[in-house]
Amino acid sequence: MSKPTIVWFRRDLRLADNSALEAALREGGPVICLYVYDETPSLRPLGGATRWWLDKSLAALSADLETRGSRLILRRGLAESIIHDLVTETGAGQVTWNACFDPGYAERDGEIARALKGQGLGVRIFNGSYLLDPGKVVTKTGGTYGVFTPFWKAAILQVKAGHPKPAPASLPAPEAWPGSEALSDWGLHPARPDWSGGMIGTPGEAGAMTRLEAFVAKALPAYGAQRDIPSRPGTSGLSPHLHFGEISPRAIWRAAHASSAPADQRAKFLSEIGWREFNLNILNTRGDVTRRNVNPAFDAFPWREDPQGLAAWQKGRTGYPIVDAGMRELWTTGIMHNRVRMIVASFLTKHLLIDWRHGESWFWDTLTDADMASNGGNWQWVAGSGADAAPYFRIFNPIRQSETFDPEGTYIRRWVPELAGLGPKDIHAPWAAPALARAEAGVKLGATYPLPMVDHDMARKRALEAYQTIRKEKD
Ligand SMILES: Cc1cc2nc3c(=O)[nH]c(=O)nc-3n(C[C@H](O)[C@H](O)[C@H](O)COP(=O)(O)OP(=O)(O)OC[C@H]3O[C@@H](n4cnc5c(N)ncnc54)[C@H](O)[C@@H]3O)c2cc1C
Repeated sequence: MSKPTIVWFRRDLRLADNSALEAALREGGPVICLYVYDETPSLRPLGGATRWWLDKSLAALSADLETRGSRLILRRGLAESIIHDLVTETGAGQVTWNACFDPGYAERDGEIARALKGQGLGVRIFNGSYLLDPGKVVTKTGGTYGVFTPFWKAAILQVKAGHPKPAPASLPAPEAWPGSEALSDWGLHPARPDWSGGMIGTPGEAGAMTRLEAFVAKALPAYGAQRDIPSRPGTSGLSPHLHFGEISPRAIWRAAHASSAPADQRAKFLSEIGWREFNLNILNTRGDVTRRNVNPAFDAFPWREDPQGLAAWQKGRTGYPIVDAGMRELWTTGIMHNRVRMIVASFLTKHLLIDWRHGESWFWDTLTDADMASNGGNWQWVAGSGADAAPYFRIFNPIRQSETFDPEGTYIRRWVPELAGLGPKDIHAPWAAPALARAEAGVKLGATYPLPMVDHDMARKRALEAYQTIRKEKD
């Protein structure tokens, strides 16, 4: 009988369309599925919201394996020594996995692969998380695309979505199962306090597929028009599923292409998946986008140190209703609508002049889809320091944004209930509402709801002046 193969699950928590698992099954011997809660110091620890999601996702994967006569072996610690020990315990002859591309993984995984090969084991590594390998889409001169549109035009030509590979009906078990830790002992679900009551989503492969099917049937046909309205379910909600690899981007690609939605709507949706690929490429070539400015001119930007301002932003108490609605949605549910992410990120970096890295860290801890490439890339896009960034002088006006994308104030009323009594004309800027309208709505500024923490015109002017200082240094 062939030796067992270890499949090291990482950010590919699914059984369908999983190249590492398929390769293990092809070996013909027993398959041992492993998940390591990796505590390697050079890797960024997970945030609270992603730990919550991971807990449920691992439970789902474990249950899916059990119905197929298999198990998920859980171990916590340093991946390098855990894999080494498991190979010794099981006599495994091969190890397969799908790559992680975040900073620190390539070097560390390379070391693990070299050590295993040195012991005579077979090692197979795949890309299960992206449509294309990072670095595959290059300009005519072999460089990295710094602008999205030409990148995506070139990328589309290379995508091969392939055929669906359904989850295996069963997995061959080893003669004896190696020991596993208990998921509940990992403490991923928050306790004392358990803040997770409002978290949204159904982690796991089945939840991802249900989401995809519902989105394709209901929202994809009008995606372009609906995707910017935060009060409506106009987007796919797939980002945490994609982050944890509960669904493959190729399956999403195939489902979008197979749908009867208008071609322009499908193309718009897939271009958002394209931004995910673009951000990965930037991460791959420019290094750690979560810590370093992609545009080094921003290293000299005069950010303000303002812990109180940061705390007001985090808690959703800035006095700008659309900003506060977004920050409270994030805190309660672990997600925030993309349009509102742009508004709150602009507010932090331009209105408060607080370093985007503080915002990136807060999102890292509170988003269930927190992802180094996409979070860092988007924060830098808004701040103006990134590749293909919005020009710095494009400073979102939170009142205009609110009037345009939440015209009736439906989204604000949901998340800022103390303003619910204000009408659509007054809810976007309660300080400018007639005193009578505020009184009738029970709104007392400075008491029931904060006064705006900065004046928009002053903040805009201050941000542009700050930007001039780095422009001068550059010139
Ligand atoms: C400041 C800021 C921080 C962000 N941080 C993250 C993050 O940590 N993780 C994350 O996945 N997305 C992040 N985004 C991008 C975007 O907000 C989310 O991907 C999107 O809101 C997820 O909702 P959805 O799945 O319904 O998206 P849909 O509109 O249905 O889009 C489909 C998929 O495309 C991808 N996508 C869409 N927009 C973007 C984008 N701008 N950049 C990269 N991928 C995109 C996502 O995987 C998403 O699931 C951030 C955006 C901003 C402005």
